[in-house]
Amino acid sequence: MDTLLEVKDLKKYFKTPNGFLHAVDGVSFGLARGTTLGVVGESGCGKSTLGRVILHLLEPTAGTMTFDGKDISDIGKNELKTIRQDMQMIFQDPYSSINPRMTIGEIVGEPLIIYNKFQSSADLNKRVNKLLETVGIAQRLVNAYPHELDGGRRQRVGIARALALNPKFIVCDEPVSSLDVSIRAQILNLMQDLQAELGLTYLFITHDLSVVRHISDEIAVMYLGKIVEKTESKELFRKHYHPYTKALLSAIPRPKVMKNKIKRVILKGEISSPINPEEKCRFFPRCIYAKETCGKSQPELREVERNHFVACHYYEEINSPCL
Ligand code: SF4
Repeated sequence: MDTLLEVKDLKKYFKTPNGFLHAVDGVSFGLARGTTLGVVGESGCGKSTLGRVILHLLEPTAGTMTFDGKDISDIGKNELKTIRQDMQMIFQDPYSSINPRMTIGEIVGEPLIIYNKFQSSADLNKRVNKLLETVGIAQRLVNAYPHELDGGRRQRVGIARALALNPKFIVCDEPVSSLDVSIRAQILNLMQDLQAELGLTYLFITHDLSVVRHISDEIAVMYLGKIVEKTESKELFRKHYHPYTKALLSAIPRPKVMKNKIKRVILKGEISSPINPEEKCRFFPRCIYAKETCGKSQPELREVERNHFVACHYYEEINSPCL
């Protein structure tokens, strides 16, 4: 595997008056060049923090990150500026992530000016126009302001800006969550086309498993700062072993006419506190299969089948056909 990004035992803790909040707590994965890893979980599971730590928008507490063969766990300002060209981000809310006082052309051209990529404004404008064309924004909108565009077009501008410096890797943080369903498919298709054309590698963060199903090569399910299940996208929809993954999958709306409907799992119980978490399974208070051991020891993420990782003491028992 040609690994572009490798993350090992990554941790991000935040100091609070009551102790340390373990937002990301020992996350490890490798991401192959030109592929997409979907990171799925409910709000507060640490998936967005994970993306921000990888991009050094937040500094890691511990762990290592290797990008394109280079250790980027602890890098200085100048190195960071260089590496940022290769690592970009598409944000959830395109309106709040772009400056409303700048025109579309200025927004897309800004990274090129910061990195001094062109000596003449004619060359700069040519590149901006090309980027707008790539993401399907009409040239006539180059002097428009963000408020004059609909949500889908604004997100296209966000994508054009992320592409400006020819990155290798993009963290996509809920890029379609704030868009209408009809626009979502257009943006997802655009992102897939760009990946095929430009060889991009994505870390695609979302709370909605159905969104990542088609765009991801692999999916990692996160719960309270930890990956609880990870495998290939198709495999996860076929075989899912962790009780939390089962609950997430059961929450995907399905048409009434569909055969093989999955029984809806309603999660009950309190979510454990991520502040100074105890040495037990994080899913323990909400898990219908929990046993005494689960309240005393934390399950490790282990490979239970080829490239299928699960963190559950009783995954075999839970998934036994006799149960
Ligand atoms: Fe449930 Fe125990 Fe498995 Fe945790 S380790 S998911 S509490 S069965």
